[in-house]
Amino acid sequence: MSRLPAGVMREATIDVGAIEDNVRHLRRLTESEVIAVVKADGYGHGAVRSAVAALAGGATRLGVADIGEALALRRAGIDAPIVAWLHAPHASFDEAAAHGIELGLSSLDQLQRAAGAASADRLVVVHLKLETGLSRNGIAPADYRLVFAEAARLERIGRLRVVALFSHLSNASADDDRAALAAFHEGVAVAASVGLVPPLRHIAATHAAIALPEARLGCVRLGIGIYGLSPFADRTSADLGLRPAMTLRGAVAAVRRVPAGQGVSYGYDHRTEGETTLALVPLGYADGVPRQASGAGPVVIGGKRFSVAGRIAMDQIVVDVGDHPVAVGDEAVLFGDPTLGAPSADEWATAAGTINYEIVTRIGPRVARRQVAE
Ligand SMILES: *Cc1c(COP(=O)(O)O)cnc(C)c1O
Repeated sequence: MSRLPAGVMREATIDVGAIEDNVRHLRRLTESEVIAVVKADGYGHGAVRSAVAALAGGATRLGVADIGEALALRRAGIDAPIVAWLHAPHASFDEAAAHGIELGLSSLDQLQRAAGAASADRLVVVHLKLETGLSRNGIAPADYRLVFAEAARLERIGRLRVVALFSHLSNASADDDRAALAAFHEGVAVAASVGLVPPLRHIAATHAAIALPEARLGCVRLGIGIYGLSPFADRTSADLGLRPAMTLRGAVAAVRRVPAGQGVSYGYDHRTEGETTLALVPLGYADGVPRQASGAGPVVIGGKRFSVAGRIAMDQIVVDVGDHPVAVGDEAVLFGDPTLGAPSADEWATAAGTINYEIVTRIGPRVARRQVAE
């Protein structure tokens, strides 16, 4: 594991080699084209570096929620296909079309606005989203025929190209996902009946891409897995052959030897049991360390595991290290790759009552990201 550079108080290292390897591994495993999902600043890892690494690992397309996220990738010089699927009400698609951003569309209104953004020398490329059970966006089954027929017409007159039909799964259970997949296939058949036969279909995110082979359909949209984290409660990154890309560390900022009975942090929720050493680590909830994990989140210092003592504050946490020799400047690792001795993002998620997605995505802007390739 790389170490904190001199003078740096807190940082998240992002192993772009891990992202590249994870994409390559999942592409082989699923035998599918990979749409690498880099929304929300690449789940906190940095959208541009994550996109570059994913493309190097064999992803052929990028996926984001907002058009603004897609435009930021274009501005950074990324020319791969990018699809954005969540739009502001009545948003104009002109800028997206001008930059060749593909649009995930969920209604007739959006389809017509997308067609309106086309020009003589510029087809708009769209992915039509089908509602198949998740109850978010997507074309309702009752509207499939109408919207697909209009899309087929707009395609014939050269306004747009429908490159895919897609949907998203609930992961409620394998049976629920199979039912949604069956609904999706019905939608695909309705589209074909009105002459719309796009080259791509995609429905599986990381969970189904791994656990439900029949959902792969030759194209999968992978988010959490490319960052090396597991979407399963009962399978670790290593179980899936993935390497976590983000490691969160701070440099111990102060060390204090205290007697028994000493209160620690706001509210004195932790009191020392005996004489002990307290180490101050400059990472707090403003940095995305979840306050719900107070008294529980794991921290490794000097190769030994501890838990946060008392409440997580805005800027800092305290670790009760007993008689373990710890000095100012020592490295405290909150999470990273457990096969290298770090706690996992999953352990922090459990301590905070959430999921690993939220742990990495919420790491705040005050934490410098440093790209490494290990
Ligand atoms: C975020 C997202 C994904 C990626 O999901 P993971 O579980 O992170 O793989 C895929 N598709 C859509 C529509 C999404 O919003």
